[in-house]
Amino acid sequence: SSSSLDQQKNDDPGCAGQHPPVSPISLDKGDPMIFEEYWERMGDKCDLRIGGGDLMSYLSNPGGVCWFLLPQLEESIRRIHSLVGNAATQGRYIVVGTGSSQLVQTVLYALSSDSPHPLSVVCAPPYYSCYPELAGILKSELYKWEGDAHTFNKDGPFLELVTSPNNPDGSIRGPVVRPRAGGHVMYDLAYYWPQFTPITHQADHDIMIFTFSKSVGHAGSRIGWAIVKNKEIAIKMVKLIEVLSIGVSKEAQLRATKILGAICDGYEGSLAMPESDKFFDYFRRIMAERWNKLREVVKKNQVFSLPEYQQEQCLFSEGLAGTHPGFAWLKCEKGESKDDAEGFLKGYGIQARGGHKFGVDGSFVRVSMMSRENTFKAFLERLSAIEAGRDSTY
Ligand code: PMP
Repeated sequence: SSSSLDQQKNDDPGCAGQHPPVSPISLDKGDPMIFEEYWERMGDKCDLRIGGGDLMSYLSNPGGVCWFLLPQLEESIRRIHSLVGNAATQGRYIVVGTGSSQLVQTVLYALSSDSPHPLSVVCAPPYYSCYPELAGILKSELYKWEGDAHTFNKDGPFLELVTSPNNPDGSIRGPVVRPRAGGHVMYDLAYYWPQFTPITHQADHDIMIFTFSKSVGHAGSRIGWAIVKNKEIAIKMVKLIEVLSIGVSKEAQLRATKILGAICDGYEGSLAMPESDKFFDYFRRIMAERWNKLREVVKKNQVFSLPEYQQEQCLFSEGLAGTHPGFAWLKCEKGESKDDAEGFLKGYGIQARGGHKFGVDGSFVRVSMMSRENTFKAFLERLSAIEAGRDSTY
């Protein structure tokens, strides 16, 4: 509310009285609304008609390991990975989940359910802020959040979560815990798509998870998928979803099939589009533009720093490509609010997520780069006001 914003500003001598009250713009979550205008422009190409008697059974593929996965969705998942070249799917099991969040939970279960010792769950900071919650909320005896992978030195089975490109900082990552018997790695590849990063290799790990939210933007459909090498692990993951929700909504799966299919058709099907309108090329350009604008403002105001990323050869676009993460990981370098970057931005009407939630100090703050265009513009305006040190036009 504006009253808490006023309070915040009064608490912060750095900006007290400098601004009229504004309602904060919410950039603390990664709601991928940047993709909305693209899908709106598709007109009726992605419309679905679902009749009253359609999709009624629990079952989708009774003979398959993941019996609730619609075969047509499985096919479009394999197709998009083969188009982009970001992950190997041949001979792997695909498990669909209600978002990749549910799949993380199933991986924890699958790797711990038969073990007499609890599974330690670790990740190198800065880590995705939901992992500690995901591993901790049930106070399970099967697994336990142990925090920083760098300092982890317990015996017994462990799971290292590797997010690459990383949320929050966009870095390309590998495991840091030394491999040993009972050690597992789960790769969360939510952002390993051309709009965010060059596709430098075809990922081929034992357990990889992807999400519909960040790959194409339909977060509300709650679809994620795992690509799993080991059949026993896939079976256990499926078992947990069976017990929790007896499968995953078929309406959502059908929509995901349609959308993934439309992207692939844009590249290789009868619907082939001009280069600049193809999904990944279009959003690579938009993300690059946003990052250029952000870097300009950050350079001018000299309060924050941003990570630098190298260009790399991209297998998907066959040329050099830049890294334009879904989040900006800002470090506050100056001023009295240096240790509370989240509070500092809040004083300027920007709601973001502070470093503590990612296992690092409060001088860092994560801001979503995936908002609608108007929100992104407002964000840049407000950020520029910090540079000016006086009222801006909002
Ligand atoms: N993993 C990472 C790294 C994420 O950033 C997100 C979304 N913010 C998720 C998993 C969860 O995605 P969803 O449940 O929407 O599929």
